Amino acid sequence: MTDLPLADRTITEVAEALRTGRTSSRELTDACLERIDAHAERLNTFLAVDPDAARSAADAADAARGSGDGADRPLLGIPYALKDIFVTRALDDDGRPLPGGLPTTAGSRILEGYRSPYASSAQERLDAAGAVLIGKTNCDEFAMGSSNENSAFGPVRNPWDESTVPGGSSGGSSAAVASGQAFFALGTDTGGSIRQPASLSGVVGMKPTYGRVSRYGMVAFASSLDQCGPFARSVRDVALVLGALAGHDARDSTSVDTPVPDYVGALTGDVRGLRLGVPREYFVEGMEPGVESAVRAGVETLRELGAEIVDVSLPSTDSGLATYYIIAPAEASANLARYDGVRYGLSAGEDELWANYDHTRGSGFGAEVKRRIMLGTYALSAGYYDAYYVKAQQVRTLIKAEFDEVLTSVDAILAPTSPTVAFKIGAKVDDPLAMYLNDACTLPVNIAGLPGISVPCGLSDGLPVGLQVIGRAFDEATVLRVADAYERAAGFADLRPALAPA
Ligand code: GLN
Repeated sequence: MTDLPLADRTITEVAEALRTGRTSSRELTDACLERIDAHAERLNTFLAVDPDAARSAADAADAARGSGDGADRPLLGIPYALKDIFVTRALDDDGRPLPGGLPTTAGSRILEGYRSPYASSAQERLDAAGAVLIGKTNCDEFAMGSSNENSAFGPVRNPWDESTVPGGSSGGSSAAVASGQAFFALGTDTGGSIRQPASLSGVVGMKPTYGRVSRYGMVAFASSLDQCGPFARSVRDVALVLGALAGHDARDSTSVDTPVPDYVGALTGDVRGLRLGVPREYFVEGMEPGVESAVRAGVETLRELGAEIVDVSLPSTDSGLATYYIIAPAEASANLARYDGVRYGLSAGEDELWANYDHTRGSGFGAEVKRRIMLGTYALSAGYYDAYYVKAQQVRTLIKAEFDEVLTSVDAILAPTSPTVAFKIGAKVDDPLAMYLNDACTLPVNIAGLPGISVPCGLSDGLPVGLQVIGRAFDEATVLRVADAYERAAGFADLRPALAPA
């Protein structure tokens, strides 16, 4: 094992220690809970934690291992966190609160007090794998944001520099993993919300292919783009978690029934003979020089490992942002119509129906969510539908076709994840367009439905930079193989932030 503190190690390392009896799930869970005690309030990483429920799940995992149940269950006893956009079962069949049941807010006041009667597919699968749920992480309201400053429950701070953002919208999850409060965490990625916070927080984060992982029980933002995926401290850890999450689920009609390969088995460390494309359009205007040099050095590392590096072009890249900001708000405006003050969470308690809608939505949604609902409603309105929504769908087809074309001649694509490192809290809140630019390198991947990962590729001014690997649809195995080979060779796998004293 490395000499890192227990809470900072990888799942791979602690799973081996569990197997040989050198640690227990209880010890791992206590190590995370200690970090939570020391740092969660300051970093604002969690919206709900139930230490007792986590400890009893850990004890159950230890008992299961004791009775010989540990073989082939690499996540048995591993503590994890869920972005508070996954519903977790908190009511019994009669609607009574379940002990240890956690609330679900999606980072919004409009869901304050909401308790779900069912579990998300992600929680069910991780439960079945024996992982230990430690809590629900802070996030941008309904996953709308790139900095975690849109949470109704306050911003998350980046453990690498607490005056900066951790990225968003899954910033609670990325910061929790970076600071040892969980061994892995789930996020959701609609336009970059796993990869961008992974990059800014110095951890690995993966968005699988659209349809690879069930969205059942994930609070919807933009249904044709949303996909869930893991954050962890190594590519191998991400592969382990993805293996537990992936696969068909009849309760999500967009989940695809295709075999799930052995992702860990795909990590050969060998990229010789692979063709990797570097799209020139991804080195966008406004990219920080320190980011560009770290990413280009990452490309060189893969060349030295024997991959063939090819210059490629994705000419419609700069239309990605405009396309996304029509399609995502359009879908959000429809999805968010369900928060009516009658069915879930907050209700203004007005007698008159329209006044109740008005006051519940007026006080329950934050400014960014209202901005998106207005943009989306406008784009879908009869007079503008063809000019905006239909046009955006046409450009979407074009962007996807360009990726498909490039990915017939290369095995994967290398790009920056984010044009900048973590920026100061407050620096971009008054400029939505500057904020939207954070995702210029990630959102085309959602538009095309492809898998993408961000892996740490060094520091710039002491803050983490991420290298993005993008692959063919349902070829997560190659994406993971490239990222893992890079990670092993690059020597950034043990980088951890120096946490401020509690
Ligand atoms: N930052 C983008 C947005 O605000 C993407 C968010 C996400 O992926 N959930 O829409």
